[in-house]
Amino acid sequence: METLAQLADTEEYRDHLSTVDESGKRIWVYPKKPRGAFYNKRLLFSVFLLSLFFVTPFIQYHGRPLFLFNIFERKFVFFGTLFMPQDFHLVALGLITFFVFVILFTVVFGRLWCGWACPQTLFMEIVFRRIEYWIEGDANQQRKLNQQPWNQEKILKKGTKFTVFGIISVLIAHTAMAYLVGMDTVIKLVTHSPSHNWAGFIGLVAFTVVFFGVFTYLREQACIAICPYGRLQGVLLGKDSIVIAYDYVRGEPRGKLKRKENKLADEHLTLNDFIKPQGDCIDCKLCVQVCPTGIDIRNGTQLECVNCTACIDACDEVMDKIEKPRGLIRYASFNNIANSQAFKFTPRIIAYSMVLVALLSLDAFLLLNREPLHATMLKVRGTLYQEMPNGNVANMYEVNLVNKTDQPIIITDFKIANKKGGNAKIAGNQVVVKGGESTTAVVVVELPKNQLDGIKTKVNIDIWSGSKKMTTKTVNFLGDKE
Ligand code: SF4
Ligand code: SF4
Repeated sequence: METLAQLADTEEYRDHLSTVDESGKRIWVYPKKPRGAFYNKRLLFSVFLLSLFFVTPFIQYHGRPLFLFNIFERKFVFFGTLFMPQDFHLVALGLITFFVFVILFTVVFGRLWCGWACPQTLFMEIVFRRIEYWIEGDANQQRKLNQQPWNQEKILKKGTKFTVFGIISVLIAHTAMAYLVGMDTVIKLVTHSPSHNWAGFIGLVAFTVVFFGVFTYLREQACIAICPYGRLQGVLLGKDSIVIAYDYVRGEPRGKLKRKENKLADEHLTLNDFIKPQGDCIDCKLCVQVCPTGIDIRNGTQLECVNCTACIDACDEVMDKIEKPRGLIRYASFNNIANSQAFKFTPRIIAYSMVLVALLSLDAFLLLNREPLHATMLKVRGTLYQEMPNGNVANMYEVNLVNKTDQPIIITDFKIANKKGGNAKIAGNQVVVKGGESTTAVVVVELPKNQLDGIKTKVNIDIWSGSKKMTTKTVNFLGDKE
């Protein structure tokens, strides 16, 4: 039976963050260099994702980037398809679909995204941290270096590290900028003087400073204190979510390996010369030492855990050494560990899945029926109507045409669809709207008086490009029947 004091001690981790001391000061985390099967797989996958990140802005499709998130000009390109402000509903729906997908994914697989695909984790653990190990050594050497005075060795190592970190931050900043404004603009920014585009230059400098700050100083705090996705875990994770978990059923009661009484420390000892604890955990704390967020996964799933798998690898290595099966820390759900339950589809998963399927269907429908030409047709400001010598009534409209495709669209005709005897004429013979651009035109619509419904008549106008009807607009037509 545990005493109250023991209970208080084991629950103590709940009262504070592992990276903040009692005075509120940050405790710098020195994670031990990870190694093992999971780390190797993550390394390979990260190389693939990082290559994609750096190469994608250079890929052009039909003369435009594969992806572009130009929030300044409100132009978005997904898989080479241009979306303009007129497609805002599609972009908004796409984002909602994405969020539902993320929620569903998290409910089932926990923070798999954080460990395997989040750019923050990829750059931090696979790029910056590796460079740090390479220059400054493993955790203990880094700790020692930080504590020692600024001698030649420290200046050289820190100088090299910050220079390399700076160069990589510049690269990331330029690539991130390319996703916002396109690679062509970034190349112009790089090859011209800053005075050519001050806004772009300041943007690049700001990005570089932010990335350098995040990967050099902020580090795990970005996941713990800033990332909104991390904060959502408390509401998204359930007892059936697959997370990185310590098998406390198997591991407890933990205890250190104890040397048998008749064995001396300086003898050549094998595993048989030790008394093993009752549980499989030998309390070596290697899983804590490798954790980049400084937590002890044996305390259960925690907000700080970014599912980096380092503790799995560390513990598997220990299990190999003490000849116990691997997987004391592994991907598992709470119910899997506590009740030996296999994965099952919970009502929550089924509900989210149904919402996701509905949203995906709606996305597909809207995308397939997306009009290549967006038009708005408004009466020319300050005009009413005009009676023509032939007795018809004429209204003048200003038409704004947005071409959502890559190719130019030639507007040849405006035709009245729901009234007889009238006509609609473009000022000039035809209108050419360049790919991805917009233009305006003036159209005069004439109707016989007998077609008017009153002072205001709804008129449907079809807009044609040769033999292809592009879209239909409904306008208010003013005129006196009498
Ligand atoms: S607890 Fe394990 S998986 Fe989670 S962040 Fe720490 S080392 Fe990574
Ligand atoms: S690495 Fe494994 S054995 Fe060592 S303390 Fe962690 S859970 Fe226990």
